[in-house]
Amino acid sequence: MEEPTEEESALETARRQLQHAADHLNIDQHIVERLKHPKKVQEVTVPVERENGDVEVYTGYRAQHDSVRGPFKGGLRYHPEVTREECVGLGMWMTWKCAVMDIPFGGAKGGIAVNPKDLTADEKEQLTRRFTDEIRSVIGPTKDIPAPDMGTDPQTMAWLMDAYSIQEGETIPGVVTGKPPIVGGSKGRDGAPGRSVAIIAREAIDYYDKDIMETDVAVQGYGSVASNAARLLDDWGATVVAVSDVNGGVYDANGLDTHAIPSHHEEPEAVMDHEAPKTVSNEELLELDVDVVIPAAIGNVLTADNANDISAEIIIEGANGPTTTAASEIFAERDIPVIPDILANAGGVTVSYFEWLQDINRRSWSLERVNDELEKEMLAAWSDVREEFDTRDVTWRDAAYIVALSRIAEAHEIRGLWP
Ligand code: GLU
Repeated sequence: MEEPTEEESALETARRQLQHAADHLNIDQHIVERLKHPKKVQEVTVPVERENGDVEVYTGYRAQHDSVRGPFKGGLRYHPEVTREECVGLGMWMTWKCAVMDIPFGGAKGGIAVNPKDLTADEKEQLTRRFTDEIRSVIGPTKDIPAPDMGTDPQTMAWLMDAYSIQEGETIPGVVTGKPPIVGGSKGRDGAPGRSVAIIAREAIDYYDKDIMETDVAVQGYGSVASNAARLLDDWGATVVAVSDVNGGVYDANGLDTHAIPSHHEEPEAVMDHEAPKTVSNEELLELDVDVVIPAAIGNVLTADNANDISAEIIIEGANGPTTTAASEIFAERDIPVIPDILANAGGVTVSYFEWLQDINRRSWSLERVNDELEKEMLAAWSDVREEFDTRDVTWRDAAYIVALSRIAEAHEIRGLWP
């Protein structure tokens, strides 16, 4: 295989990681080849009448990667850099994420190349409704179930559910997850990705014989994943010394009051307003001398340029794809464990699965039940991955991919190739 470059796309990274895991397993190369490609990519244009009367035409995608284990599942991203290729790569990660958690879904991702900050709420609603209609033939509660991702939120999912339901002539809450609970969303879904990051961080801290009460943690970001992970780890006794938003971060060696700092949802870009002994840039935050660093904002922040300057002893991936392939190789050489996104932040899709079950059964679960079942699922997945890590000479990422890929390959083997 070629040497990785730093400009690698999500798709190239996803393919490289797949091949890497496949090399450890005795899998038919035809199945591996199949998995390097999406099953289908729907590309649509979405015209929106802006408030000034202009009509803007945006491009949207829904990339469906693999559905051998169940309906396609994955988020919708509203971001200026959304591309077809990025959706395919992120969709592949969803396939592995669902398989590593052993939930009966495949992988997909979609999005619109748009900066949601440039739209009013009404324009965002129009955009979502029209996009939903454009992808209506490929989504559905037993076909492909979208969810929130960067730039989308529970309100976006409610509009999607409403537009789909109106066109289908009946209320179909199971077409999308991450909705507000009043329209069939699950309690605990919002906090779930951050909760799973905290659970996995706690288990990793324990695995490496550290005491959580004596563990310093730096968290990049303060959106849903970062704020929920930081607050839970803080509640469980860890010292959260730094958190950040797009403008930079705050640092306190004695530990920040994570509940007093507003998350992005509570008040956007307010982290730097919080009184703290020191401020740090987002780059400096990652290099802090801490026990655990959690990049939980955007992708590609740990690269060949800074991998040698990271002082943390454990890295937990809260964001999707925060570590480039080149950086992963440096961390492997430096013996710094990187617990991968497809395990650490999989709480989101796991509670999405719970939400889908609640929608289908028309019966909601208590928050306590959601959190208990999430804890059980996370511990089961952690133990499956840990077993591979302990028995093979591989990284944590490889171990997670090996668990996921074995399940997917076996399902492909048993279903066979049609016709
Ligand atoms: N967008 C989230 C992720 O990357 C959640 C996907 C889902 O719940 O379907 O895992």
